[in-house]
Amino acid sequence: MATNTDKYEAEENFPDFSRQDSMVRTHLTQDMYKNLFKKLTPLGVSIDKCIQPACEYVRDEKIIGLVAGDEHSFEVFKDLFDPVINEQHSGFGPSEKHPKCDLDADKLQIDGVLDENYVRSCRVRTARNLKGACLPPCISRAERRLVEKVFTEALNSLDGDLKGQYYPLQSLTKEQEQRLREDHFLFQKPDSHILVNSTACRDWPTNRGIWHNDQKTFLAWINEEDHCRIMAMQKGGDIKGVFARFARGLKEVEKKMQANGHGFQWSERLGYLSACPSNIGTGLRSSVHVQLKHLGKHPKFKEICTAMQLDKRGTGGENSATVDDTYDISNAARLRKTEREFVQHLIDGVKKLIEMDKTLEKGGKVEVPKA
Ligand code: ADP
Ligand code: MG
Repeated sequence: MATNTDKYEAEENFPDFSRQDSMVRTHLTQDMYKNLFKKLTPLGVSIDKCIQPACEYVRDEKIIGLVAGDEHSFEVFKDLFDPVINEQHSGFGPSEKHPKCDLDADKLQIDGVLDENYVRSCRVRTARNLKGACLPPCISRAERRLVEKVFTEALNSLDGDLKGQYYPLQSLTKEQEQRLREDHFLFQKPDSHILVNSTACRDWPTNRGIWHNDQKTFLAWINEEDHCRIMAMQKGGDIKGVFARFARGLKEVEKKMQANGHGFQWSERLGYLSACPSNIGTGLRSSVHVQLKHLGKHPKFKEICTAMQLDKRGTGGENSATVDDTYDISNAARLRKTEREFVQHLIDGVKKLIEMDKTLEKGGKVEVPKA
């Protein structure tokens, strides 16, 4: 049976990108679209599903505009994915390869903990997706149920300090949900442009939830932007301890999943795969909440962070406001370096930001570092 895609020519179906600038708009030519528009991945994902975020207005700045509907999207639609990945990751050509995973916390270079006069808390998270199931933009209800079952089975079998419990979002009262969010444990409300415009938030809140150990220092989010986000966090400046727990928990979860015949989506060239191309490679965002009373007010604070390849977010996460001059500072990149190198990058960067804050406090000047 002819579908409404089959009946029309690619030119007739080419999106109008005039309202929103995106990497898709930059790289998707009419010819490329013509070549891709009737292709489907083995799980039935089309290029139109992957570029939908680029077809909606979000804001007056360039977005990526591309999501993967499944692990095959990166290969089947590589004519578009490759140049977008190259742009997003500041140069990652088709012959480049992401390095092997390195979760060795002992190799981190740090004396003690980060200065707790400034650093309030540390967190390390990554994204992991179940091999064989579509990613959230294209996932079916049955796959979502499977994802929840597979990840929670593995998580529920952890023991010792990692022993914990799963809390489906639907089992929480509004107050409990709000409290978890305010305490920085739970994902944000599903209103970000990526979740909405990629349609990853269909059927919300069904089969979404949070798993955490008793101390809430090792946590997992189920069926948000990826199948699973796994993280370790705690108050204070012990980033090495947080990375060590993160690494231990992550390895345990992978082992349990493997024992049950499951694996993570991964590619030899791109590393771990994720719904958003910005997260491929390590999927790792190591962050601190750091109070910078002086540097935070500096007109060039954002430029300074960008030049140091650090990402600056508000206290409540992406696109949130800052409270009390406290910022969420993290490694901006996810690809081309190992997990350990990204955490090291954050450690070194945060130390420099704290030094700059001290310089400003004493009346000195700070410059935007040369990138
Ligand atoms: P991501 O999607 O990378 O996990 P978000 O920006 O969506 O991160 O933030 C998710 C939640 O994690 C937010 O509540 C945010 O405040 C919290 N968070 C991030 N980093 C830290 C940190 N170092 N300490 C405490 N909470 C954090
Ligand atoms: Mg997020």
